[in-house]
Amino acid sequence: MAKEELECSFCGRKKPETNLLIAGLDAHICDRCIEQAHGIVLEESKQSDNVSDLSSELMLKKPIQIKSFLDQYIIGQDHTKRVMSVAVYNHYKRLLQSPTEDGIEIQKSNIIMVGQTGTGKTLMAKTIARMLNVPLAIVDATVLTEAGYVGEDVESILTRLLQAADYNLEKAERGIVFIDEIDKIARKSDNPSITRDVSGEGVQQALLKLLEGTTVNVPPKGGRKHPDQKFTVVNTENILFIAGGAFDGVERFISKRLNMSAIGYKAAHDDDIIDAENMLQYITPKDLKDFGLIPEIIGRLPVLTHMNPLDATTLRAILTEPKNAIIKQYVKLFSMDDIELTITDGALDFIVTKAVEYKLGARGLRSLCEEILTDAMFNLPSSEEKKLNVTKSYAEDKLTRTKLKKLKAVS
Ligand code: ADP
Repeated sequence: MAKEELECSFCGRKKPETNLLIAGLDAHICDRCIEQAHGIVLEESKQSDNVSDLSSELMLKKPIQIKSFLDQYIIGQDHTKRVMSVAVYNHYKRLLQSPTEDGIEIQKSNIIMVGQTGTGKTLMAKTIARMLNVPLAIVDATVLTEAGYVGEDVESILTRLLQAADYNLEKAERGIVFIDEIDKIARKSDNPSITRDVSGEGVQQALLKLLEGTTVNVPPKGGRKHPDQKFTVVNTENILFIAGGAFDGVERFISKRLNMSAIGYKAAHDDDIIDAENMLQYITPKDLKDFGLIPEIIGRLPVLTHMNPLDATTLRAILTEPKNAIIKQYVKLFSMDDIELTITDGALDFIVTKAVEYKLGARGLRSLCEEILTDAMFNLPSSEEKKLNVTKSYAEDKLTRTKLKKLKAVS
C-alpha cells in the first residue's frame, strides 16, 4: 500500500484527515478512534466497579485462605488465627448478604482477644485489615471517658476510623476498629471510694451502642477543639470491632473456676492436665465478667480468643520467618547500600536469649537488633566494606550490660 493511501481501520479516515495514525500488525488506528475507545474503556470499568465494588474491595477470602495470609505475617497463635479467620469471614459474609425474606439476620461477630502485651494482638488486627484492604483505627481504651469528662469521648473512635478511610464514609462504615487495653476499663468494684466510675463502667456503657450497631454523630476533625464543624453521621452496623487486652490477674478467676469444676467432675477430668504456664487458653466469658467487664459488653464481643505467651522458639521464628521479619528488613536496609548482611545462627540465638532473660518480648527483638547494628549502619555506608557478618561475639560486643538494662527500662 502506498503511504498516502493509509487509513484508519476503524473509521476509514485517510491519513491526511487525522492528526495521528498509529500502525498495528495489520491495521491502523487514528487519534479520534483512540480517544473514543479510551472513553468506552473508562465507562465499562466504572460500571463493573460499581457491581463488584463491595466484594472486590473486601477481597473476600475463605477462612483457610484468611489463615494462610495471617500465617505469612504472624508466627504461631494457631488457635486465634483459626477463630479470627472464621469470625472475619462470617462478618463480611453478613455484609454481603442481600436482604432475605426468611427473617434470619446474621448478628455481628465482634472479637475479643486476651493475651499478654507484645504477643501480636495489634499485629493480628493490622494484618486482617491489610488483607481485606479496609481502613483500620487503633484506639486505646484508656483514653476514653464518659462524655463530659476530661479525656476522649467514645465517638472519637469513629473519628479515627474516618481519618483512616481518608474521610470516605462508605469505606469507614466497613472498616475495623481495634480497641486496645479493653481490660483497663473494667469495673473497679473492689474500690468503693470511687463514687463515679468515669473511666470504667461508664465507658463500657458508652461503648455498648457502638459495638452493637447504631448511627452516631461524629465530629470528623475530632473532639472538642473544633466546636463549629459539621457532624458526619456514621453507621456502625457493619464495622468490625476487635478488642484486645492483657487482663492481668484474670488467671486467678480461671484457676478458681477450673479447680471448682475439677472437684465436681473429678472422674471425668482425671486425665485433663491443666497447663499452669498458659492459663489464658481456658478463659471463658465468665472470667471476663469476674474481672469486671459488664455482661452486656461481653455479649457484644461474642468471639473470645486468647494469645499464647511467646517462648524462645517463637521469638526466634519471629526474627527471621514472617514476610517482613525484622532480620529481612535489616538485610534490605544494608543491601540498599550494596552491603551484604549475614547473621549467624549463634548471633540469632544470642539475641533471643537476651530477649527472654531481660523479658523484652517480641517488641524487644527490634531494639536488640537496633543496638547491635547501629554502629555498622552508621559507618558502613561511607566505607569500602561491602560485607557484614554478625556473629555471636560481634553481638555480645555491641550489647553491653548497660545497654541491656536501658532496654529493659524502656520496655
Ligand atoms: P500486642 O498488641 O499484643 O501488645 P503487638 O501486636 O503490638 O502486640 O506486637 C508487638 C510486636 O511484636 C509486633 O510489631 C510484631 O513485630 C511482634 N510480634 C508479636 N507477636 C508476633 C507473632 N506471633 N508473629 C510475628 N511477630 C510478632
